[in-house]
Amino acid sequence: MRLILLGVPGSGKGTQGAILSSQWQIPHISTGEILRQAIANQTALGLKAKAYVEKSELVPDYLIFDLIRQRLTAPSTQRGWILDGFPGNLSQAQFLDQLLATLGQSYNRVFSFYVPTDVLVQRWRQRGRSDDHPELICKRIEVYQEQTAPVIQHYRQQGCLTVINGDRPVEIVTHFLQTSFSDLSLTIQQKTVNTSERLINKERQILSD
Ligand code: AMP
Repeated sequence: MRLILLGVPGSGKGTQGAILSSQWQIPHISTGEILRQAIANQTALGLKAKAYVEKSELVPDYLIFDLIRQRLTAPSTQRGWILDGFPGNLSQAQFLDQLLATLGQSYNRVFSFYVPTDVLVQRWRQRGRSDDHPELICKRIEVYQEQTAPVIQHYRQQGCLTVINGDRPVEIVTHFLQTSFSDLSLTIQQKTVNTSERLINKERQILSD
């Protein structure tokens, strides 16, 4: 299974990426998380990325390309992967298309998480991450709207985009993601969440309107 998760900070893509990664036993590749760790460990990547991450700007593409190329050609990702926060702009999306073509692979689906702004504000207050103070969050939203929104359009045009209502309890969003693949030959351990079925069907209807 190969998935791409896109969404602003606090949209829930990281949480869902971690859950699906553990259920499906495939790596969750969060570019933001990898960069934060690289900075904390003062690696060569971390030293180069630090100034950009501190300002909530996208780090230069060449650094991200190396990182993604390394991860997607590693033996651990041969069974699949979940990309979280990548591609962050159109040139990264084009790079990914080319890399996957070289590897003879393709992604199954792209999910864009949508959460209303007032809910996001509440979530940011609760997270308390060092780059979650209002100025930096505004900057990340601005970067997202300018640079990542065209990526969403790119995938929409390719017909592989699903918009997710992320303003739902975690387990309902997980169930929505899992059931999106019920037509694929994938063995997922699915718990039937009775009450969520109705909500999800309703939600699908709203999102497809
Ligand atoms: P996130 O955890 O997704 O909010 O990302 C935190 C920070 O990591 C961002 O503000 C960027 O500085 C950097 N970053 C994450 N993903 C990317 C990407 N695809 N391209 C460039 N920079 C990124």
